[in-house]
Amino acid sequence: MQKESESLMRSHQEQDSGQGGRIRPDSSPWAYAVGQVSSRPGQSQTVDAQFPAPSGIGDAIVGVKEGDIVTVNGSFDSISDGLVFTGTFDAPVHAECTRCLKPIDRGWNMDVTAFFPYDAASLSARQRPGGRQTAKDEFDIIDGEDESEDVYPLSSDGEYADFEALLRDTLVEGLPLQTLCRPDCLGLCPQCGINLNDAPNHHHETVDDRFSVLAELKDKLKEDTTTDGR
Ligand SMILES: [Zn+2]
Ligand SMILES: [Zn+2]
Repeated sequence: MQKESESLMRSHQEQDSGQGGRIRPDSSPWAYAVGQVSSRPGQSQTVDAQFPAPSGIGDAIVGVKEGDIVTVNGSFDSISDGLVFTGTFDAPVHAECTRCLKPIDRGWNMDVTAFFPYDAASLSARQRPGGRQTAKDEFDIIDGEDESEDVYPLSSDGEYADFEALLRDTLVEGLPLQTLCRPDCLGLCPQCGINLNDAPNHHHETVDDRFSVLAELKDKLKEDTTTDGR
């Protein structure tokens, strides 16, 4: 993923050298212009944007469909060596109720903090164990322990923040593991699979059968004792 963003950055730089450097990188729909706060420590920029969901978030059962709109709210705060983004992502997550398998479509809110350093070289230098862009093999064991901010690239000499990797990482991590269509979902009948939410009084006759067997048995026993008694 990092390699991808690096090559993306390089291609933007090449593009920019010929075109003045303020062209929106058209190869990325996730580029967000931050030029007004970039390299201006102390400045903040409000973000209210919508991006298409990147590919590969979840699967057919729980996930975000590629291209579905993710709303991003928050702000970029400029510090001496980069931009700090804090905010929320609001994504349309599709899921399945884990009890009754009913499809659920719901907006999910996720809190986000990320760092976009000015110096691309510091991308790796600043990464702490647990950062999602660190070499996977190296840090797999401790991955997830450290919830510190993650590091993402700026492109075009700090003119744009690229949200693609940040969106993907955040959404993948934020996907619900357990989803219920409602807190008191009754689930499916273990015997016939009918959705018990649609038929709360549903039951099977086997229960009654058992009673009738008992009743028969009781009658039989009664008969037996009366016979013995004589
Ligand atoms: Zn359900
Ligand atoms: Zn049933």
